[in-house]
Amino acid sequence: MVTGKPTSERDRLILALRGRGRYDEICQRSWVEIDLAAIAYNVQQIKTLLSPQTTLMAVVKADAYGHGAVSVAKTVTQAGAGAFAVATTPEGIELREAGIKQPILVLGAAYTSDEIKAISHWQLQPTLCTPQQALLFSETLGKLNQTLEVHLNIDTGMSRLGTSWQKGVEFVQLVQRLPNLKLAGIYSHFATADSLDQTLMRQQHQRFQTVIQTLGINPKNPLNQGTVSRPCLHISNSAATLTDAALHYDWVRVGLGIYGLYPAPHLRSTVDLKPVMQVKAKVTQIKTIEAGTGVSYGYQYIAEKTTRIAVVGIGYADGVPRNLSNKMKVLVRGEFLPQIGAITMDQLMIDVTSMPDLQVGEVVTILGKEGKNSISADDWAADLGTISWEILCGFKHRLPRLNF
Ligand SMILES: *Cc1c(COP(=O)(O)O)cnc(C)c1O
Repeated sequence: MVTGKPTSERDRLILALRGRGRYDEICQRSWVEIDLAAIAYNVQQIKTLLSPQTTLMAVVKADAYGHGAVSVAKTVTQAGAGAFAVATTPEGIELREAGIKQPILVLGAAYTSDEIKAISHWQLQPTLCTPQQALLFSETLGKLNQTLEVHLNIDTGMSRLGTSWQKGVEFVQLVQRLPNLKLAGIYSHFATADSLDQTLMRQQHQRFQTVIQTLGINPKNPLNQGTVSRPCLHISNSAATLTDAALHYDWVRVGLGIYGLYPAPHLRSTVDLKPVMQVKAKVTQIKTIEAGTGVSYGYQYIAEKTTRIAVVGIGYADGVPRNLSNKMKVLVRGEFLPQIGAITMDQLMIDVTSMPDLQVGEVVTILGKEGKNSISADDWAADLGTISWEILCGFKHRLPRLNF
């Protein structure tokens, strides 16, 4: 993404021509468009479900699911998000260096003293997952004479990071005793919150409640009451946030919903969300091939009749999955057109026989909306047997992110 002061002739040229729809005219074969107004809209929509006591923590890991972490973070702050979650320490540093002042939780686990020093230096809030890790943090911070706010991850059934809920109380009490650590939060993560059947999610929630109650923490008490403060509690991802306000606690950790997609079809009725990302590319050549001519590697497509094809400047190295070869559609002038032949690293071909006047340089929507028609990450995920999360963060940084 090119913003701020130009640092090179290239950046200067791009900035000079950067208005909506202009940048793509000068040099780019393909790009990602990010609708920041849609992000703000989604945050506002999700906030309608939250009580005033609940803070919306925007999950901006993996470069905000491919949307650009810094611009997303600034937008959601304006729209009312009060905290951030990232997966790694460098992701947290990127936000701090960009001037983000809100709490930043690092969801991944840190195990080296240099990483702990960095977390402390940039005032990130780490996740502690085991007693050993807590001891290492306490010892490292002690040598620096620094105190750090930390969150503890309790594994209530995800079987990923965290101390198992049966040992959760012991773990929390250990951290409360250790010097140089301030218990800022206790959290857990659902494995099946997007399922229509809530049984397993309820079981995980029950385990979380057991730990909290045994510790004598009352979630109904305000976070800071005079000099007494309790750790903040959080357990909900997007799906749980949309499902039930009783799961919200002090923070909700929302990723996917901010980017305008629903974790599951049955959650579409909860709030109105707008997809944020569109992926576009340009036609780079047009040609007519005779019946019987093969297209692309391996001739997975052979023309049955005289066919007009267009080459489009985007491929699997940009994040268009090769497994969509011969299956996907694109949008041109608001109409669906079929993709044909194997998708190659940097280019793919489409059948444009129905559009005899199509020109080189015209814009093709790979993912997004044109008029009444749209192609969503959910459509791709269904065709590929995966989830929309993977589609969103699959677009590579060779594609510039353009913010509108
Ligand atoms: C990624 C992640 C989230 C956000 O999940 P969404 O389904 O995208 O809302 C929340 N919590 C944790 C621990 C995560 O790893």
